[in-house]
Amino acid sequence: MRLNGWVHRVRDLGGLVFVDLRDRTGLVQVVFDPAIDASLVEQASELRVEYCIAVEGEVRRRRAGAENPKLATGDIEVFAHTLYIFSPSKTPPFQLNEEHLEVDESVRLRYRYLDLRRPGMYQRLELRHRIVKYIRDFLSARGFLEIETPILIKSTPEGARDYLVPSRLYPGKFYALPQSPQQLKQLLMVAGVERYFQIARCFRDEDPRADRQPEFTQLDLEMSFVTQDDILNLIEELYIGMIETCTDKRVLKPFPRLTHEEAIARYGTDKPDLRFGLELHDLSDLLCQTEFQAFRSAIEAGGIVKALCLPNCADYSRKQIDELTQFVKRFGAKGLATIAFSADGVRSPIAKFLSDSELQAIRERTGAQTGDLLAIIADTPKVVNECLSRLRHRMGQELGLADPNLMAFAWIVDFPLLEWDEEEARWNPSHHPFTAPREEDIPLLETDPGKVRANCYDLVCNGHELASGSIRIHQRGLQDKIFHLLGYSDAEIQERFGHLLEAFEYGAPPHGGIAPGIDRLVMLLAGDETIRNVIAFPKNTAMVDLMFGAPSPVSEEQLRELHLRIVHDDEA
Ligand code: ASP
Repeated sequence: MRLNGWVHRVRDLGGLVFVDLRDRTGLVQVVFDPAIDASLVEQASELRVEYCIAVEGEVRRRRAGAENPKLATGDIEVFAHTLYIFSPSKTPPFQLNEEHLEVDESVRLRYRYLDLRRPGMYQRLELRHRIVKYIRDFLSARGFLEIETPILIKSTPEGARDYLVPSRLYPGKFYALPQSPQQLKQLLMVAGVERYFQIARCFRDEDPRADRQPEFTQLDLEMSFVTQDDILNLIEELYIGMIETCTDKRVLKPFPRLTHEEAIARYGTDKPDLRFGLELHDLSDLLCQTEFQAFRSAIEAGGIVKALCLPNCADYSRKQIDELTQFVKRFGAKGLATIAFSADGVRSPIAKFLSDSELQAIRERTGAQTGDLLAIIADTPKVVNECLSRLRHRMGQELGLADPNLMAFAWIVDFPLLEWDEEEARWNPSHHPFTAPREEDIPLLETDPGKVRANCYDLVCNGHELASGSIRIHQRGLQDKIFHLLGYSDAEIQERFGHLLEAFEYGAPPHGGIAPGIDRLVMLLAGDETIRNVIAFPKNTAMVDLMFGAPSPVSEEQLRELHLRIVHDDEA
């Protein structure tokens, strides 16, 4: 038999040379034995890790006691007859044959082609491939067409900055890379396609954040003549089938559906981790008359008081509680009040300000048992929900409630259509400007736009947002009205969206869709902490490709052709 691969490890025992040979399917032990060919053993003793070689030999069962149960091929070994070295290798900049070795990420990304040789990396690429293939097969079987849309296009606003590509042929003009194929897929619906999908690359020029990439992949999908339920049911079936087929993770079924309001009330966030309960409890109505000034003044100022009940944490030390307090302060809380219901009574720095009946009501509302610790915050709804949802998330992990093998999905529905932007003093779309308002809320567009609910949905899983979508506006008049509400002038509407509005005048079907992110999904299914691990060639957290050194300067000649001149900050 002939094997091609890389030298994973060499052990030269003086007489015998053992080589662990690696290819994409795994490892096998190759033996160079002087009894077969002494000069071959000499050649083999020159091998070093990561040499790329071919070996011909004979498969033999290992002698009893020499099996390696950790290897799939651990019962056999290959006795080599020939050895061919395709390429030697320099000593790699980091060790590739140790599974749990921590390697600095910038070195990994600089030598990504070596990093991808490390244990588990090929499996990640393979998992991603199987997931994408499952999606393609599933949708193809249901009459969807996969259609490519352009990468060089005009600005397609999804709330981020565009990447621009200067035009050589049209001085001063630019293409934009799509933030998503949103308008194109809507135009495909006007074109009568009815069921479209694409594994689409999207580009958004946003400021660096821990787990953000300037380009990312979505399953982009759109359907005509459907209701919100049709889309939710389709995606739910897709995800359940995909996860059960491609992974050994457990999925909670069916996916619960929560309104945005309910999600905020119960979990303080619209992307709750539902692998565990730990719901928030609103205490505001119980405490509006309280003597405790910090609570009362927060409520009087329009704020709320909410509690999180931490099971079996009543014996937390001063130090542990200080640590939790520092944690919530990072997200804007002024402090954290605690009540411990320990076996020997109530321990709480605020108990003396609360009446017995208030304490009793709080205990009943939160369902706190003996042994539990209440964490309470009083502030504006935004601060309370943000801080307690962060604390809930953290404690879910710390208390071991977040089962890594469980995928707890939920649909979040009924988002508000618009959000008020305090700084800019104007409305922004909570999803994007093409989202349809709920039919019965349309009259409110005139009177109370903030109250209008959208036909819009998010899919969340284990505390991550995995997809957003909506039923779209397909009437020119309504779309115009929304653009005006968002503060666009007639000229801007015409210039940026004229093509879409015009298309709506030619028999546009009702339509809607969704765009689940692929990177984050694969990350969760691979049990990873960062999407960079499931992207073959990611940029680092500073948006730099360390292998190519991109972005990079270009030649004067290229700039001239593109009619561009670089203005350095000090000249600007
Ligand atoms: N285009 C949207 C996005 O990228 C998703 C959608 O509405 O289908 O977030």
